[in-house]
Amino acid sequence: MEFMDNTIVRGSVVTDRLVKDGEKVFYKTYNRFPVVFERGKGVCLYDEAGREYLDFGAGISVCGLGYGNALLDKAMKEQIDKGLLHISNLFYNEPAIEAGGKLLEASGMEKVFFTNSGTEAIEGAIKIARKYHYNKGEERPEIIAMEGSFHGRSIGSLSVTGKEHYREPFEPLLPGVRFARFNDLDSVRELIGPGTGAIIMETIQGEGGIFPCTEEFLRGVRRLCDENGLLLILDEIQCGMGRSGHMFAYQEFGVLPDVLTVAKALGNGVPIGAFLARGEAASAMVPGDHGSTYGGNPFVCAAAGMVLDIFKEMELPKRAGEMGKVLWDGLERVRAAFPRLVRDHRGKGLIQGLEFAPEIKAGEVARKALLEQQLILISAEHNTIRFVPPLVIEAAHVRKMEEKLIAVLEELG
Ligand SMILES: *Cc1c(COP(=O)(O)O)cnc(C)c1O
Repeated sequence: MEFMDNTIVRGSVVTDRLVKDGEKVFYKTYNRFPVVFERGKGVCLYDEAGREYLDFGAGISVCGLGYGNALLDKAMKEQIDKGLLHISNLFYNEPAIEAGGKLLEASGMEKVFFTNSGTEAIEGAIKIARKYHYNKGEERPEIIAMEGSFHGRSIGSLSVTGKEHYREPFEPLLPGVRFARFNDLDSVRELIGPGTGAIIMETIQGEGGIFPCTEEFLRGVRRLCDENGLLLILDEIQCGMGRSGHMFAYQEFGVLPDVLTVAKALGNGVPIGAFLARGEAASAMVPGDHGSTYGGNPFVCAAAGMVLDIFKEMELPKRAGEMGKVLWDGLERVRAAFPRLVRDHRGKGLIQGLEFAPEIKAGEVARKALLEQQLILISAEHNTIRFVPPLVIEAAHVRKMEEKLIAVLEELG
């Protein structure tokens, strides 16, 4: 309280101390920005000095509903008040059954398994592929993945991540993973052999720099899977949950995967993921094949169930499509103002990327935006800034972001 009369001074002193303490306690796997957030509301975060930041990162595509959603908060509080956060998967719980049913309805899949994260959902998907062919008595353990993809940090998901510098220090990884070029159907076809069991890809590559798959490519991969008896695993951990303008990005093209992975925005910040399957893939694993202590506990599922209700009620996928057009126009204006600095503009809905020319670094754009403009932007591969705001943003927020980004680029250019 003693600092309340001078919030800016309080901010810098407290921030400095917390940043130092943080560096002492955390295992050093991140280069964090020196900002300490304390609370959030709507599409804004507030640091411990009370400064407001406009958020176009949503906690890495997680907080689709933004911060402090009253309905979601109420659902979580009610579950807490029941004293039922966790019971294990030895028993049934209603929030998980409800959230599961809603997710199946939204995705067109037939069975769901709840995980605690995205990477665990990928592990489950890989296990389905293995078990599916094992059940048929066929040796088809190999997987085709895509260059530039990102599927997570655990050993299995790292094995199918198409970025060598993430994989190399941890080799040997899963054997039999080969990488095709994204959106190049011939490169996929060439890799299919008698040992191939599955193809895994993001419908829109996120970490890789915001590259949507083409309709032709997705339909072609689906056809190759059908012709060769392969499972199609679509990773919509980042691009799913309404962000593309459809609940799931594959729905735009009327294609269904055999296995789907979901996480990030499913819990709006509560850690939950899922893998879902249909057809024979939905019954490939049997009791004893897979499990999770926490996965799908009543607390996280009360949150996810409410998130899914709010998505439906507010028609958030449709809204993301509409706001996506506003964002597209805004970023096109930025591009037109800096034709030398902006190389490319990709994406759809509220998952878009601006790729910069080599003379400016996307990481530097993000740093300056945060520290000088109080605008949260996150970078991705390919010298790209990705724009993945809460799906509840409004046109005025896009305008404000545009002004701030222009101010950053004016200085850097
Ligand atoms: C973030 C992400 C993952 C990994 O999710 P975690 O929850 O960080 O384990 C996997 N796939 C994609 C496409 C992602 O964006």
